[in-house]
Amino acid sequence: MKGLAIPKLRKVRITRKGWIRKLDKLVSEIVILRDKRCVVCGTLHKLTCGHLFSRIAYNTRWNLTNCHAQCLSCNFRHEHDAFPYMEWFRKKFGQAALNRLHRKYETMSHFKDYDLEKEYKQLLRVKERIA
Ligand SMILES: [Zn+2]
Repeated sequence: MKGLAIPKLRKVRITRKGWIRKLDKLVSEIVILRDKRCVVCGTLHKLTCGHLFSRIAYNTRWNLTNCHAQCLSCNFRHEHDAFPYMEWFRKKFGQAALNRLHRKYETMSHFKDYDLEKEYKQLLRVKERIA
């Protein structure tokens, strides 16, 4: 058989920013699939990925214990009033889990590009299990 064209596999390099964007998007998809509704007010509409502790810290930015489905307005409110989400978490998982998560949030860690890629691949498998 002739003429069967096999496309060349071109390796596309993903930038650091690209990995971060991909990770944010994937984690958002996972938590919405997992939680299905805003964990604070219960609505099913305009769901986003809420972070209990700020996205600033990479250590907890894609941690599925730190991320939950939150509607747009609860997510927005969280920025100046963290209490409702914090209370929801504490009641559901307990004070010890909250302390553990906070310790993780405070711990500095440097993510190299390949760490981001590794994280992404692990989270892809998590998503496959949920979907
Ligand atoms: Zn809400």
